[in-house]
Amino acid sequence: MNLPKYSMGVGDRFFHEAEAQLTAFFKLKEAGVEAAPVWNKSNREHEIIGTNPDSVRLKADEAVNKLNWPGAYFVDADHIGLNTVDKFLTSSDFYTLDVADFIGNAASEADVKTFVEKYKKYAGKLVLPVSNKEINITEEQIEEAAKKYLYAIQEAGKIYRHIEAKKGAGNFVTEVSSDETETPQTPVELLFILAAIAEEKIPAQTIAPKFTGRFNKGIDYVGNLAQFESEFNDDLAVIKFAIKEFGLPENLKLSIHSGSDKFSIYPIMKKAIRLFDAGIHLKTAGTTWLEEAAGLALSGGTALELIKEIYANAYDRYDEMCKPYLTVIDIDTNRLPSPAEVSTWDGVKFANALRHNQANPEYNINLRQLIHVGYKVAAEKGETFTNELVVNRAKISELVTENIFENHMKPLFL
Ligand SMILES: [Zn+2]
Repeated sequence: MNLPKYSMGVGDRFFHEAEAQLTAFFKLKEAGVEAAPVWNKSNREHEIIGTNPDSVRLKADEAVNKLNWPGAYFVDADHIGLNTVDKFLTSSDFYTLDVADFIGNAASEADVKTFVEKYKKYAGKLVLPVSNKEINITEEQIEEAAKKYLYAIQEAGKIYRHIEAKKGAGNFVTEVSSDETETPQTPVELLFILAAIAEEKIPAQTIAPKFTGRFNKGIDYVGNLAQFESEFNDDLAVIKFAIKEFGLPENLKLSIHSGSDKFSIYPIMKKAIRLFDAGIHLKTAGTTWLEEAAGLALSGGTALELIKEIYANAYDRYDEMCKPYLTVIDIDTNRLPSPAEVSTWDGVKFANALRHNQANPEYNINLRQLIHVGYKVAAEKGETFTNELVVNRAKISELVTENIFENHMKPLFL
């Protein structure tokens, strides 16, 4: 089972937007580029909302059948580990093995030694493909990378083999993710992470390192653009090199987590994937829930009241909402409007504060992030919330499709 060159993860936390999301992929296809939709929902999201992974498959299949999507599509068990994977075994055909928690745990001394012995031939100058950039690798770096990442990748191997035993080799797509950690991985580290992945015989088709800079949920990239560009290009070159050198899958590509709304780096990524003739997987999730929230605000009436209530509740339970996402949000609480203030807003003002339009002076990056992580409150509202999604479907669908197509696909693929 091969993931196509271009693919995009779309999260549909409340199961009402699969058709609107798929419509964006049709628009991209009409514009001449094919990308495979991947419906991703992490174990964390399932736990917070109280849903079962089978529901994601059901809604993805339904949308694909109803709209007659002619291409490949996938259902991603996002950020799973050995103790959470089992409930995804029937419904998913894409698994994101999250090893972030194991980074820094030491592999056995013997394993580290064997790894360094085998790979120390790469110490010295390495000329990267396509860019012809020379990088210098020392034996110490190889050893450090082994000490830092070998155990984590061995753990990924265990998860992979567990899934393979149940689903059969070749029947699913494998991603290895290490993005939800404090320190970024350098291109040199990525090279030896990929070597370790090859050692574990994990047929990874996507790899999600942590890049330099902040990849906060639902907002733009924060960091040094020139440094990101250089690192991103080097990562693409390293992957090209590793595919040949270590015998990894030909279609191995980068996966960008928290990939929604990173408007300032899409042009950099577009240029780089063209230069390297590389594929890409862009993972988004909460950006769709934020469009649902904006759609409710713009629909006015009870829908607007409900979304204000959700904000007020998330505001009161700030720590609880933010806790699962601390490495991927930056909220300045002093700049969060009070629920009392928000209660005086009309729908347009609420949507202006929420929607990611940096040119709009009413846009509030802090409110946007709090609502992003506040979806638990919406889930608690149960049918009161989902009924509003149904009633206001026309407005919401329009926003969801537009957001994915105009804000994400166009700048990255067209
Ligand atoms: Zn992630």
